[in-house]
Amino acid sequence: MPRGKTPRQPTRTGRQEGARVARVLPPAKAAERRTNAAQGASRGSLPPGRKQAPKGRKKLARVRKAASRQAQAYNPLAPDRIAEILKRLDQLYPDVTCALTHTSAWELLVATILSAQSTDVNVNRVTPELFRKYPTVEAFAALTPEQLEPDVRSTGFFRNKSKSVVGAAKKIVADFGGQVPLNMDDLLSLPGVARKTANVVLGSWFKIAEGIVVDTHVHRISRRLELTTNTDPQKIEQDLMRIIPREKWILFAHQIIWHGRKLCIARKPKCVDCPLENICHAADKTWSTVELHKNAQA
Ligand code: SF4
Repeated sequence: MPRGKTPRQPTRTGRQEGARVARVLPPAKAAERRTNAAQGASRGSLPPGRKQAPKGRKKLARVRKAASRQAQAYNPLAPDRIAEILKRLDQLYPDVTCALTHTSAWELLVATILSAQSTDVNVNRVTPELFRKYPTVEAFAALTPEQLEPDVRSTGFFRNKSKSVVGAAKKIVADFGGQVPLNMDDLLSLPGVARKTANVVLGSWFKIAEGIVVDTHVHRISRRLELTTNTDPQKIEQDLMRIIPREKWILFAHQIIWHGRKLCIARKPKCVDCPLENICHAADKTWSTVELHKNAQA
């Protein structure tokens, strides 16, 4: 054994050096402590045996609770929110109209049929020459779809579009005296005409608010703004018709279509420049000052 190191000996008192010993309190003091502990428990502190949560965790829990209360209270269709969206759209796009070049209901009908799966710019490149070559509904009605195909080829899906345009012209001449009908049911009876096209013609040419145009932009942005959770265009239209005042139906669709072209584009919306940013919770935003909602996306 090295010098200077001696084995530890028990102390005389029986207590090892440094050992912790419970302090024995006088009975009165012990009773007071017990009373204080019982009062603490009744004030809502944790039950005996349960550890106190650290302060940070408590704060986080409080914040989460408040956020979830807020989320439960949030109603994307609240009239105030809808009114605010409409107000900001009015400021942003005060007097926008249909971007398809046309001078009559027939030309607008043709241009709208051609615009499916194409851009308005592309259609506007094709239609001036098309309407110069075939200036009336009767001129279109006299064609076969195959004769029209080369003229509309660059708009895509040209075989179907040719069939629709020639078919619609023939029916308008045969059943409606060469005039584009101005009611939904008759418009829907034309080949290649669904509610979107009918709404464009009724709203933009005849100024009749029969429904709301749901094209790719209205579809995408209505979902981003949580105005609908549907994906079917007809259901989206019904949802929008329930929350947008009728006198706004025509303008609202134009405004959203312009918004979709300028800022709320499909791939990378320009949220940093968007005046709707702080009331938009779209999950696919590119920049946000508000919390995102995972179901709010195109
Ligand atoms: S904030 Fe972004 S996602 Fe929302 S409407 Fe504006 S551009 Fe679209």
